[in-house]
Amino acid sequence: MVGVAGHPEAANLAYLGLYALQHRGQESAGIVSREGSATRVHRGMGLVADVFDEGALASLRGRHAIGHVRYSTSGESSLRDAQPFLAASSDSQIAVAHNGNLTNAQAIRTELESYGSIFQSSMDSEVFVHLLARARGRLEQRISDALSRVRGAYSLVFLVDDVLIAARDPHGFRPLSLGRLGNAWIVASETCAFDLIGAEYERDVEPGEVVLIRRGRARSIQPVPRVAEHFCVFEHIYFARPDSLVYGRNVYLVRKRMGRELAKAQPVEADMVVPVLDSGAASALGYAEAAGLPYETGLIRNHYVQRTFIEPEQSIRHFGVRVKHNPIRELVEGKRLVVVEDSIVRGTTLTKLVTVLRNAGAREIHVRVASPPTTGACYYGIDTPSKEELIAAAQSVDEIRDALGADSLSYLSLEALRRVEASMKHGFCDACFSGDYIIPIDQIEEAESQLGLFDPSGE
Ligand code: 5GP
Ligand code: MG
Repeated sequence: MVGVAGHPEAANLAYLGLYALQHRGQESAGIVSREGSATRVHRGMGLVADVFDEGALASLRGRHAIGHVRYSTSGESSLRDAQPFLAASSDSQIAVAHNGNLTNAQAIRTELESYGSIFQSSMDSEVFVHLLARARGRLEQRISDALSRVRGAYSLVFLVDDVLIAARDPHGFRPLSLGRLGNAWIVASETCAFDLIGAEYERDVEPGEVVLIRRGRARSIQPVPRVAEHFCVFEHIYFARPDSLVYGRNVYLVRKRMGRELAKAQPVEADMVVPVLDSGAASALGYAEAAGLPYETGLIRNHYVQRTFIEPEQSIRHFGVRVKHNPIRELVEGKRLVVVEDSIVRGTTLTKLVTVLRNAGAREIHVRVASPPTTGACYYGIDTPSKEELIAAAQSVDEIRDALGADSLSYLSLEALRRVEASMKHGFCDACFSGDYIIPIDQIEEAESQLGLFDPSGE
């Protein structure tokens, strides 16, 4: 998610920002721009580079723009559900880009529909637009009214006519940062977007804060009472890019620290440490340094395969893991390996990789995971599958080790993870590991599955 306020090349900057944030979503991409009283939109399915060409970017004129890359955690995977979402109310054009997951969207939608609102998409994010369109008063008041109705996780960028608005839910589940490029303001999910366009990171949008940027001036309001912060720790473990600052911390260094903790708690006699690239690299390096073992990229990653995880069909996912990693036989043959992975979700990746490494002649395979067992689904915006699909929800560590076919398996303990969290001096959400859901599950709609939230067939 990215926003640009007050730059003659707003859409181009938004495009570059989205390019830097491509890892956050590969299903669809879109940009909305504003010039004079005209709001324009271009959206499409697929990667940023495929969705936009020069013609599309040139048509997105104006000094303000917002953009979004999407992977669905709610709603369908279709163009109808691509963001930013754009709608006209009687007196304004409202565009919104949303990162997160609302926990009471269905209830709000049902209520709004009973008053005659007609929804165009299956996304939870659309409720923001309807709430804003119905609210009365000054924009500050309308935003406050809309945000006070929704529960759950949201980092948001709105373009309401020519006002850019950045907002973060009171828990601060998802990240959102503010930057400057000369006199322009830039908003982005991660600071790596600032680096690409040469913007300076200024600060994070605070939990519960709404920043309104009008005619070059930023005004901050805090419409919803602040609560204890619950930053998503999975951003640090897997989701964010290692060159980003997330919650003010460099992601790479946090991962390395997790790897060191893992090595201290779970040492093993071995010849080398092999990362599961890309996301396992930093923690594997931390592990290798702390264990005094060589770090070798014994598995080569094919970068032209997109993240397999979001492929909707299980058969495709298995295929994806096979094409994605190939071992260097000459390196691993006869060796005792520590294979370091950032997380195990369904177990698909490692089940394949252990086989692949055995076939390449590895003598021993010790799997080390730089996060605790993933035992719970995420209701706050990460695409964790439902509990039944999580391998650690039903199986013990020993059972998983046998399922993977590894010689040993250990995870970073929850205590160790919490030590790392505590060292960052912030409050974190680690519900997917601990089961400590801040918003109780019985208040979460469709607790079984985030996908199909608005799908009447329930699929
Ligand atoms: P598994 O193969 O066990 O289902 O998933 C674990 C692998 O997927 C790890 O390599 C991890 O880096 C990656 N992963 C973890 N969470 C996510 C996610 O939310 N999206 C995507 N695309 N990959 C993920
Ligand atoms: Mg990975």
